[in-house]
Amino acid sequence: MLRFAPSPTGLLHVGNARTALLNALLARRGGGTFILRLDDTDTARSRAEYADAIAEDLAWLGIAPDAIYRQSERLAQYAQAAARLKAAGRLYPAYETEDELELKRRLQRTRGLPPVYDRAALALTEAQRAALEAQGRRPHWRFRLDHRTVSWDDGVRGPQQVETASLSDPVLVREDGSFLYTLPSVVDDLAMGVTLVVRGEDHVTNTAVQIEIMDALGGTPPRFAHHNLLTLPSGEGLSKRLGHLSLRALREAGEEPLAVAAAAVLVGTSQPLQPVESLDALAALVDLSHISRAPARFDPQDVTSLTARTLHGLPYDTVAPRLAAAGVGGGAAFWQAVRGNLAVFADASSWWAACAMAQAGDVAADDAGFLAAAAALLPPEPWDGATYGAWIKAVKAESGRAGKALFHPIRRALTGRETGPELASLLPLMGRARVAARLRGEVG
Ligand code: GLU
Repeated sequence: MLRFAPSPTGLLHVGNARTALLNALLARRGGGTFILRLDDTDTARSRAEYADAIAEDLAWLGIAPDAIYRQSERLAQYAQAAARLKAAGRLYPAYETEDELELKRRLQRTRGLPPVYDRAALALTEAQRAALEAQGRRPHWRFRLDHRTVSWDDGVRGPQQVETASLSDPVLVREDGSFLYTLPSVVDDLAMGVTLVVRGEDHVTNTAVQIEIMDALGGTPPRFAHHNLLTLPSGEGLSKRLGHLSLRALREAGEEPLAVAAAAVLVGTSQPLQPVESLDALAALVDLSHISRAPARFDPQDVTSLTARTLHGLPYDTVAPRLAAAGVGGGAAFWQAVRGNLAVFADASSWWAACAMAQAGDVAADDAGFLAAAAALLPPEPWDGATYGAWIKAVKAESGRAGKALFHPIRRALTGRETGPELASLLPLMGRARVAARLRGEVG
């Protein structure tokens, strides 16, 4: 049981896609379950439209979660867990304001101490608490860490040890009673039976805290694997809030979902960047132990070239529904003919228009005689893949032209372009009447 747990506070970027895909693909490969869990307890920053966009972007990548949960709908479970922690003396009220905490941290820094919460609130007497509450102060609630060494065998990083004595007791519940991400995440990972958590290495410290909370709740922690983070080519970290390298923008730029997925998963690993035919093929390449420890730069150029390479290898059956939706006909023969020339999928539509819609032959005055003579040599139908070769041989023999002077005017007349798919494949798709008309500079 694996999960992807984004907060719906912005559009997913390729770094989020890396996390989502690693989880989804490991689940897929192992016959496990993959859930999408929206970390939306921060009502000030979460937005329904981002939650919708996340599900849509995952669908675009080809990921269909087995279930979707919203933490905002599970608050009662978190309240119950908080009550248990309070009863066990592991969750205590603290009354410092943000300003007071900031002041404490500043003083600690000037004394050369780490800015760790001093647990002053733990020492408050009942009467002192009552006095603070009488002033109108509301508590936030901190988890009392055990101050021990928390260890786990990380799927990417190997054996890990964190001394929780070096950490501040984490705030689990805000002053207004709302939950920060930590407790809901722990409660859900236990309740939902998550067995492996794959997430970014920015969560390594959280993991130590979460293992302590899981222990305090009597649960068995899952296994953890923290992957390296992707950055912009400049080295700057990716931000959902700033809209860096969003899946939406890559999709709008015409990038292929399988190319984005392959790049998101393979960049920053010891495996070469390579096009894949399907998510199953990509799942077969996933190996947590191949993920590097250092942050990895993500170059959008890599996706662009991978998009072209992906298209060049996509089998017709995979793209048939998309071709149909785009109004592109010609079946497998057309796809085979053009796929090697596509930079983006939409190029298939332009080639289809060039083949199947009436357009005037692009004939330069100097070539008109040559092309009309070539038209006269066109064999009768039916045409097949060998027609072009036989015809061009005859044209060559009669005109005496060769090389560019022979091929170029013909390609221009037939397609209106300088380069493109092999004419041998296009000719049968275009048909004799159209080819003959275009060679004569007419509309065909
Ligand atoms: N909402 C957290 C994040 O997006 C979830 C981390 C986790 O996977 O537990 O970073």
